[in-house]
Amino acid sequence: MADLDLSPRPLNLADPAPEYPWPDGNKSALFVGFDVDAETAWLGNNLSHVERLVTVSHGGYEARVGVPKLLELLASLEIQATFFIPGWTVAAYPQMGEAILRGGHEIGHHGYLHKLPDPGKLDEAIEEIDKGLDALKSVLGVEPVGYRAPSGENFAALLHYLHQRGITYSSSWRDDIRPYRHRLSDGSAGPVEIPVNYAFDDWTFGLSSRVSPRALFGREPVLDLWKDELAGTHAWGGVTTMVLHPQVSGRPMRWHLLQEFLIHAGEQGDIWITNGQKIARHFEAHEALAAKG
Ligand SMILES: [Zn+2]
Repeated sequence: MADLDLSPRPLNLADPAPEYPWPDGNKSALFVGFDVDAETAWLGNNLSHVERLVTVSHGGYEARVGVPKLLELLASLEIQATFFIPGWTVAAYPQMGEAILRGGHEIGHHGYLHKLPDPGKLDEAIEEIDKGLDALKSVLGVEPVGYRAPSGENFAALLHYLHQRGITYSSSWRDDIRPYRHRLSDGSAGPVEIPVNYAFDDWTFGLSSRVSPRALFGREPVLDLWKDELAGTHAWGGVTTMVLHPQVSGRPMRWHLLQEFLIHAGEQGDIWITNGQKIARHFEAHEALAAKG
């Protein structure tokens, strides 16, 4: 730890987020993103949970109920979402992955066993990326362009590696309300970042378990929080990025809550409700336009 550089400086090297319009006259964007962890949410940072079958059964809910019900909901509202899926989950539940693809949704990278990317363990982080890419390719034929960090952590060398492996956008950072372009530690351009809104991480208020007990929040507080966050971000022309988990938002009450929220967002009439890949491509198109002058 002696060589940590603690000198005062902006720790994110990226330039400020550029201003450009959203497509079709929309005033903001809603990025509908799911993290389909299944059991890996419980295994990644504690491998011995593999034998604790009730603990991991929170994750088992996703393939059995959560994802099918969410796919129904998205189809009924004609919304295309992004599903970030760890490689282990894709290999364990290939039919679930195929159903997501059939629904017209994007599949993104979310590690292999959902291990927290640790700056002190670059080899392990690279293995998670490589095995995740292999699983997505061999099981589903998918070469993902989006990456969301398992357990929400990342570091400079990993960002560099993701860029080398064809990841064109990341959705993990918390430091903006508009997409921006990462700058890698060598000064070159990195992936586009579509920053997340942590108010839309359903895990923090919607899941309580023996190993991570938490207060649960019901329909009214969550719906109020989501509508207010959406309205505020909309007023500032940003992107509202959701971090939903089918083991939470695929449960009956939260599924209905999500349905109500998505219908509300659609009723605004000027919110681009879409997936990460489309937001990243739109960013790149405007970046290219700006570069031409
Ligand atoms: Zn996750």
